[in-house]
Order: sequence, then C-alpha cells, then structure tokens
Amino acid sequence: MNILPHEHGRVDDFRLRATHLIAFASLILLGPFAINNLLNTRWVIGTASMLVIAVLLLTTWCVARSHPWSRPVTLLLSTLVLSFIALSIWRQGMIGVFWSYPAMLAFCAMLPVPMATVFCLLLLGVVSALAPPVAGAELWPRVLASLLGVGVFAQLFVRVIEHQQEALRKMAQTDPLTRLLNRNTLRDCLAAAVARAAADDRAVSLLSIDIDHFKSINDGHGHAVGDDVLRGVAECLHTHTRMGEYGFRLGGEEFLLVLDGCDQVIAKARAEQIRRCVAGRELLPGHAVTVSLGVAEWRPGESIARWLSRSDQCLYQAKHSGRDRVAA
Ligand code: GH3
Ligand code: MG
Ligand code: MG
Repeated sequence: MNILPHEHGRVDDFRLRATHLIAFASLILLGPFAINNLLNTRWVIGTASMLVIAVLLLTTWCVARSHPWSRPVTLLLSTLVLSFIALSIWRQGMIGVFWSYPAMLAFCAMLPVPMATVFCLLLLGVVSALAPPVAGAELWPRVLASLLGVGVFAQLFVRVIEHQQEALRKMAQTDPLTRLLNRNTLRDCLAAAVARAAADDRAVSLLSIDIDHFKSINDGHGHAVGDDVLRGVAECLHTHTRMGEYGFRLGGEEFLLVLDGCDQVIAKARAEQIRRCVAGRELLPGHAVTVSLGVAEWRPGESIARWLSRSDQCLYQAKHSGRDRVAA
C-alpha cells in the first residue's frame, strides 16, 4: 500500500525546527561578541557580526511562521556564516577557527544532506586555506581532522534521526493489522486528491467497503479468526490498489479506497473486481466471506464530507439490497 508522500514544508520537519532553535541560540551566543567588537571599535568584524545577527533574526522569523522563504533564508544564513568564519580567521586567527565547529554542526542540522555536504566541504576548504599560518604547523592538521570528525559524526547523527522520523511517520499512518492506511491521514489524502482532480480536470472516486455479517464470523469463530479475515480482505485491497492510489482501514471491518483518475464507470468495475476477489478467496472454509461496496465519483465543487457521505449511502444501499454487491 502507498504511504502518503511527504508534504512540502513537512518534508524536513525536524530540520526546520532545528534551524529555528539553532538560529535563536546563535542570536544569544553571538550577541555579546558582536557588541563587544563594536565597543572595542573592531568595526569590520563587529559589522559582520551584526549582519549575521540580522539574518539570524530573519531566519527565526521566517521559520517560526513556516514562511516560503525559510529555505532560501537558511541558505543565505549558511553562506554568510561561512564568509564570517573566513573573515574571522583572517582578522582574529584562532578565534575564528573555534567558530567553525558549531558552524559545522549547524550546517548538518539545518540543511538537506547534499547541501550540508557542500557547506561542510567549503568550510573545511576555508579552514585548510586560512588556518595553517595562524594555528602553526603542529596544530593545523589536528584542527582539520577534528573538524572533519565533527562533520562526519553530525551527518551520521542526522541520518539516524531521519530514519527514526520516517519509521515513526509510517507507524502513525499505518494500521498494523492490515498494513492499510489508518484514519490519521484520511482528511489530508482526500483534500489532496480533490485538489489534484480540480487542477488537472481528472476524475477521482471513492469506494466504501464493508465486510458482510462480520459480527457473526467473530461470534462463531472467535476474534483471532476475525482478524485473519480482515487481513485476507485487506490482501484483496492491496492487490487491487495501483501506484498512486490509497487504501484505508477506517475502523472495524470498514475500508475506503481512493481511486485517482477513475470515473464512476471505471470505479464501479474496479469495485466489482474487488467484490469477486473477496468472494473467490475462501477466506474462511465453510463460511462465505463477502463484502458490500459503495461507489462515488467526486463532483466538482463538492465538499469532502458530502463526497464521503454519498459513498457511504451507496454502501448502505448495497447492504439493503442483499449484500455481496456494488452500488453506485
Ligand atoms: P453488516 O453486514 O451489516 O455490515 O454486519 P456486520 O456484522 O458486519 O456489522 P457490525 O457493525 O454489526 O459488526 C462489526 C463487528 O466488527 C463488530 C466488532 O466486534 C468487529 N470488529 C471491530 N474491529 C475488529 C477487529 O479489529 N478485529 C475483529 N476480529 N473484529 C473487529
Ligand atoms: Mg459489516
Ligand atoms: Mg460496519
């Protein structure tokens, strides 16, 4: 079953949150140094620090509001920080080298992996070009090696967080019994399907599916057998779901399929295939397992609630006219 794709803006949710916190913490960290530089009439480095602070403020503001400029502003901030470190090493020697360590960490946490790699390599380049005369022959290779270590460890750490986040996202979206999507993402998925249909002038249909007399299966054979039947029906749904389509277990023995690009006629034919698949599977020997299905194609301008309700009404119509059938 398709897992819902990342929505833009949520893609690197933790990166945006990290950017916000790092930018805010850097404001507090850098502020006293910037003021101290200006008070001591170190105008070049003082003005550069103030510029970094201004962009840190802009970044904090953009990210807090999920502004579309968040990404470009983060890139601007990273470029500015890189230039500031070059300037600082050139004007202040080892003081500038020390700032390269938190900068390396910040690049890895704030930027997507390819961009972070580019900035980390640029920073290593800047430090290896400017550090040897200020650090001395003995120290500068160690500066480079330790900086490289910080960069590599930070990238690995970020990868672990990304994998954990992806696993949690999948878990939050999936029903563990049937591996279909659960209700959590239903509204988002339907809203996206309707938006796509409206934009591309394409059809999209819903299939509401309910197992017939499921309570009697549970009552007669036990809950565990009921669960096997649920898994078997879900298998049919997986088999009949194409790339880009989504299947949900809404709860109990009720399911919903979102068929992108299918009008009422095609959706009805697909519903019939699913009905036949379940009926022909012999999910419970000696006991016919069947499903009833309702079909509803989205009508332009129709609300999601109304669309769902029409699909449900068709399902009830299928139930009332004898079950094991499709109503459209
Ligand atoms: P109808 O044909 O009208 O749909 O009748 P039905 O018996 O299928 O519908 P009803 O709503 O009366 O019963 C649904 C049953 O589904 C009741 C509940 O115990 C059972 N159920 C809900 N969730 C689960 C589950 O996760 N596993 C199992 N085994 N049973 C469940
Ligand atoms: Mg039922
Ligand atoms: Mg039901």
